[in-house]
Amino acid sequence: METLTLNSGHEIPQLGFGVFEIPPEETAECVTVALEAGYRHIDTAKIYNNEAEVGQALAASALPREDVFVTTKVWNSDQGYDQTLRAFETSMGKLDIDYLDLYLIHWPVAGSDSYVDTWKAMRKLNEEGRIRSIGVSNFQRPHLEHLIDETGIVPAANQIEIHPYLAQSVVRQADIDLGIVTEAWSPLAQGTLEGDPLLEEIAGKHGRSVAEIALAWNLALGNVVLTRSTKAERIRSNIDVLDIELDDDEITRITQLDRDGRVGPHPDTFGRK
Ligand code: NDP
Repeated sequence: METLTLNSGHEIPQLGFGVFEIPPEETAECVTVALEAGYRHIDTAKIYNNEAEVGQALAASALPREDVFVTTKVWNSDQGYDQTLRAFETSMGKLDIDYLDLYLIHWPVAGSDSYVDTWKAMRKLNEEGRIRSIGVSNFQRPHLEHLIDETGIVPAANQIEIHPYLAQSVVRQADIDLGIVTEAWSPLAQGTLEGDPLLEEIAGKHGRSVAEIALAWNLALGNVVLTRSTKAERIRSNIDVLDIELDDDEITRITQLDRDGRVGPHPDTFGRK
């Protein structure tokens, strides 16, 4: 598995398995299939309500803790210094692991900058060794700059929606400028890329599926990519994309499919829940 180096010095596997919207009763089985298929990076969040089941799958696997990169996220209603410290302990209790690889602020939350106090709590946990790397999710350049101005601490990662219909060149450039690794969520635009003529054409040329081409494009941009499926054969095929080599022309043409086609909320308007 390819890895990227975070500004914390730690390595992050470039392809990860995400468990958003996987029901708790299916999560342990899906994560077990993913670990058996070779994924070494699992992405969950408090709001996904399946951290405990991720922990069960990790415990049931024979893999040493060091071999699996685990991410979870602090939810909007837990933002603030003390709340974040409490939320972290709750998440760690559910995951049942002794350190976390990456903790993310899930959303900046429109109309509030309590992400600054959240970040200070995360810095404390990072300094104490409870978390190896700290980062953010759904941050735009102004959020990133405000956070850095207030604390002097640059996030290790920024996890944002990226797929062929939302190339996110502005935020990706901000991440590059600031030394932040970009992670892509919903890389398959939640299943809406099927039937796209250009993706079908390129998929046909490579003898691969549209989904596999979309994942290969995202990896070629240099992003960490998080995939999700509840079907064992798709969990396996989604990791079998590291050998797909798209040429520069194919990468450019896919990038030009960008149409501001979000499948998730916009960070500038998504509020506290
Ligand atoms: P994806 O874009 O990966 O799409 C998942 C959907 O695509 C599912 O419905 C799945 O269906 C289907 N699918 C999976 N593989 C294939 C395939 N090979 N061919 C065709 N269809 C396929 O969506 P997610 O929104 O789950 O994003 C991935 C991860 O990113 C999440 O699990 C989560 O960890 C993270 N995320 C983070 C967010 C944030 O705010 N930070 C927000 C959203 C996601 P099926 O299960 O039937 O295979």
